[in-house]
Amino acid sequence: MKVIRPAGVCFTVVFLLSILVVPVPALAVTNVALDPGDSLPFPVATDPTRTYFPDTGHYLAGGFRTYWQQHGGLAQFGLPLSEEYTEANPADGKNYTVQYFERARFEYHPEFKGTPYEIELGLLGVQTVVGRKFDPTPYVPSTPNHYYFTETRHTLSAGFKRYWDSHGGLAIFGFPISEEFTEGGYTVQYFERNRFEYHPEFSGTEYEVLLGLLGTDSFRLTGHHLPQTFGVRPDSGAVVQGHTLKVRVLGSVPSNVTASFNGQKLTFVSQAGELAAYAPIVSNAALRPQLLRTEIIDNTGVVRRFDQNIGVLAGQFEHQTIQLDPAVESSLGSDEEQQRERDRDFSFYNQVTPVKLWSGRFSWPLTGPITTPFGSRRDYVGGGSEIHDAIDLGVPQGTPIRAPQRGIVVLAEFQKVRGGIVIIDHGLGVHSAYFHQSVIAVKVGDMLNQGDLIGKVGTTGLSTGAHLHWEIRIGAIGVDPEEWIKRDF
Ligand SMILES: [Zn+2]
Repeated sequence: MKVIRPAGVCFTVVFLLSILVVPVPALAVTNVALDPGDSLPFPVATDPTRTYFPDTGHYLAGGFRTYWQQHGGLAQFGLPLSEEYTEANPADGKNYTVQYFERARFEYHPEFKGTPYEIELGLLGVQTVVGRKFDPTPYVPSTPNHYYFTETRHTLSAGFKRYWDSHGGLAIFGFPISEEFTEGGYTVQYFERNRFEYHPEFSGTEYEVLLGLLGTDSFRLTGHHLPQTFGVRPDSGAVVQGHTLKVRVLGSVPSNVTASFNGQKLTFVSQAGELAAYAPIVSNAALRPQLLRTEIIDNTGVVRRFDQNIGVLAGQFEHQTIQLDPAVESSLGSDEEQQRERDRDFSFYNQVTPVKLWSGRFSWPLTGPITTPFGSRRDYVGGGSEIHDAIDLGVPQGTPIRAPQRGIVVLAEFQKVRGGIVIIDHGLGVHSAYFHQSVIAVKVGDMLNQGDLIGKVGTTGLSTGAHLHWEIRIGAIGVDPEEWIKRDF
């Protein structure tokens, strides 16, 4: 490894960083409520014996899964709304193992074990129209285009007949129990196990005939919890050291969400109909899964805990061995002085403004060569080391520095170590910082838009030559600014 005496770099965090060793708690899944409708957390590992549906937080397994897969799956039955559980059947009062779906109730009938009737669909159409009367239709002989069912004295024809014939017929839908009529603005027809709806807006597509959401309606009437239509969605299952994990909570926004990643609290803020938070991965994070824990208090007051492990992937970082100039070394000041300035800066980084002030990608604050990339590992001859959680851009003195995104100036002053420093608060705990400026062009409280002048490049503070030291921090943790230029967070 080459020993270098760098020009135009900064020594702002020398000797202050220690390697973080953060214990990861053993995975603990706690589901306070035990209602069959309660959504279950993301599985941490793939289990081939059961399928997890993140949209509702429910599993499908065993005979019910086989039946679901073989008889039309999602299009026919919709998503599972519950786990399997035992319920008294409205038709005969007996207990059966059931599972609700958006458009069906699956029932396990042990008395028919080994026959095609072992799994039956609940009579949701019958249940839905209970108390209503549909006049029977006088007998007409069946033709290939028009069926008459003597069992229920109703007919089936045209588009609904084609759908009934091609999507499972009697076994799936049962007999018609009404004629076609208009309900809720659509032409509908009731069958023993469901309702057909004609949707002219989808004419000519496979969605022209849709099944009613009678599973959802019936499950609601059972009094069980409807599954939460939200899910906790990290944008990735594994993140590179120094990168940022975006965590979203989708669907009907619950009343209260708290989360932590590797022990650090995340602040969720509503944006575009979803809750989102940002978790920084420290650039020397241990290369093992870290715990993302989310607790959601839903609108029934039930607390749900979602625990997910997020993998940490190795980043590619430069290594430097640096011989410090004795003059620079002696001007570092006392440990107390360094610590005081550092504490002051971090008091701003640690503030969370609960509004997202930026939108879209960040831009470079100036154009110039990167002299020290993000995450560079530096060892100092004579002892000490640091990780450079920032990007250094080597450009001439006086080069204008421009705001990479919208935000409020929360610090603008000259410091001993960092020189002319500006910190911009972009909201949600995201800050950007600019060190060693010769001129500061903003003051505390200024609202900056992307492209607004912040100041000018210099070599003030502990710096060996003109350059801009640029940081993005989420809370106290520095993340790779280039990711924020490449990705729309
Ligand atoms: Zn730097």
